[in-house]
Amino acid sequence: MRFSQLFAPTLREDPAEAEVVSHRLLVRAGFIRKLAAGVYTYLPLAQRVLEKIKQIIREEMDREGGQELTMPILQPAELWLESGRWHVYGEELFRLKDRHGRDFALGPTHEEIVTDLVRGEVKSYRQLPLLLYQIANKYRDERRPRFGLMRGREFIMKDLYSFDRDEEGLDESYRRMFRAYTRIFRRMGLNFRPVEADTGAIGGNVSHEFMVIASSGEAAIVYCDSCDYAANVEKAETVPRPLPGEEEPLPVEEVATPGCKTIAEVADYLKIEPARLIKAVVYQAFYRDREELVLVLVRGDREVNEVKVHNLLGCLQLNMAGEQEIQKVCGAPVGYIGPVGLQGIKILADQEVPLIKNAVCGANREGYHLRNVNYGRDFTAYQVADLRMVEAGEQCLRCGGKLLSARGIEVGQIFKLGTKYSEALGATFLDEKGQERPMVMGCYGIGVTRTMAAAVEQNHDENGIIWPIPIAPYHVIVVPVNMRDEEQVRAAEEIYSSLLKAGVEVVIDDRDERPGVKFKDADLIGFPIRVVVGKALSEGKVEVKIRRTGDSFLLDRNEVVDYIKDYIAKEIAKTIEEC
Ligand code: ATP
Ligand code: MG
Repeated sequence: MRFSQLFAPTLREDPAEAEVVSHRLLVRAGFIRKLAAGVYTYLPLAQRVLEKIKQIIREEMDREGGQELTMPILQPAELWLESGRWHVYGEELFRLKDRHGRDFALGPTHEEIVTDLVRGEVKSYRQLPLLLYQIANKYRDERRPRFGLMRGREFIMKDLYSFDRDEEGLDESYRRMFRAYTRIFRRMGLNFRPVEADTGAIGGNVSHEFMVIASSGEAAIVYCDSCDYAANVEKAETVPRPLPGEEEPLPVEEVATPGCKTIAEVADYLKIEPARLIKAVVYQAFYRDREELVLVLVRGDREVNEVKVHNLLGCLQLNMAGEQEIQKVCGAPVGYIGPVGLQGIKILADQEVPLIKNAVCGANREGYHLRNVNYGRDFTAYQVADLRMVEAGEQCLRCGGKLLSARGIEVGQIFKLGTKYSEALGATFLDEKGQERPMVMGCYGIGVTRTMAAAVEQNHDENGIIWPIPIAPYHVIVVPVNMRDEEQVRAAEEIYSSLLKAGVEVVIDDRDERPGVKFKDADLIGFPIRVVVGKALSEGKVEVKIRRTGDSFLLDRNEVVDYIKDYIAKEIAKTIEEC
């Protein structure tokens, strides 16, 4: 490819609205352009990266027995009503009507469609297991589309669905996909980690997310320093820790705590550890046909994990309650509420709360707290469960090691769905004994466009992108320094065509620009290897520079093609070897 013809409009300045590196660099380096919030055009450079990502995914899906197909993006509402998700999915589902007034959705995911397909075609255990996948656009009307390709409203996803005869079959399909995902992200040259995950709205009970480690990641994860336990903080568990010291329960007393609204202020005023306080947070939980107020209790030095609360309640939505509701049910404002004597509200307590002896909590009276409050004697909860966030430094539940924290970008997620969709849609088969049984399903997604963005988040410097070789749009850029120097141009053209002949993906920067401009663009776009044909040519040499390491050295012009072929092959072999 000739740079003079390449449609890669690079920008000198950062785009104003870009909040994260990948967004900024992908726009600046001419990979993407925005059409509307969360909707992008992928320009030719991005297209090449995306195709490489898709190809790696395809190879690994196929290797594990996946078969590719393409399902419609336009999905009739009937199927979503059948699965029960038409009303549950909420505003994220793009809905539209056809000319006859029939409801449709633009597919955010394809459980309904694939289950409908399979229930019509698969009747016998002999046709199972079946692993079907596609790589296609997905549509989600995200509340906050942002960060460029990270959270789009139209994006590319690979989604595979597995259909098995029984749980053991599902376990095997899940293992295969876990293995495939591990190979996929390794082959792309990314630093990633599989973590235990919450199953959210998709349903099911076992799930892992594949996280690309990056400080800009939206997800917080914890991982053990001595075993392989790792989890999204939404899901992470740890050992409940009793506070040190044995105490006899003392009689409850009310104490004035004027102006002390926060845990820190109360702890300071009463000269106690924040861990001796009970933090109380009021939520409003919405179900399909009702709503209720819930008081969640955690130790004063902990945070409520809303995902755990949400799951325990099984509600559709969970919001923090407003001032008015809190005042109405507790008779006091935020900062002074507590569980003692409260009526008309469901109380949920984290498992550490009953372990606090002679605790302090709000008195449900403005300006007052209660001392010496004890679980069982002074209050109880509707349910005691793990409802808090785990923190770095805590103990690993598995091995007692220390939990560390990191941030990650979720590039893939795999779920064991079980029979949720096959039962709802009647996807059954006849087993060996002629008995009708629901198929046991799993679903497995990879965000293709998000993976491209994540690769940039993890691989860049102040000058631009540093593509890992397996997914780089091109491997090499050849830069003749002086376009007016015929010899340089001729040598550059020769090297360019030899590289092309050798099957190397190469661009020649044949623009009549200053070398500084060419070098800037080469760094910005992130070509892994740069070949500069300049002054050294008089001694028969050209300069090779490796983008990632910054190493640069002179090579004989006749050696350069072999060197590059060898370098690329070695780099790609490294990622495959690890698999
Ligand atoms: P998130 O929690 O980030 O909203 P999700 O859990 O809803 O994502 P899944 O349903 O698991 O996403 O989709 C599979 C994959 O698709 C995700 O792992 C992610 O890589 C990608 N993905 C999901 N939503 C988006 C989006 N809005 N833009 C780009 N990629 C996305
Ligand atoms: Mg997910």
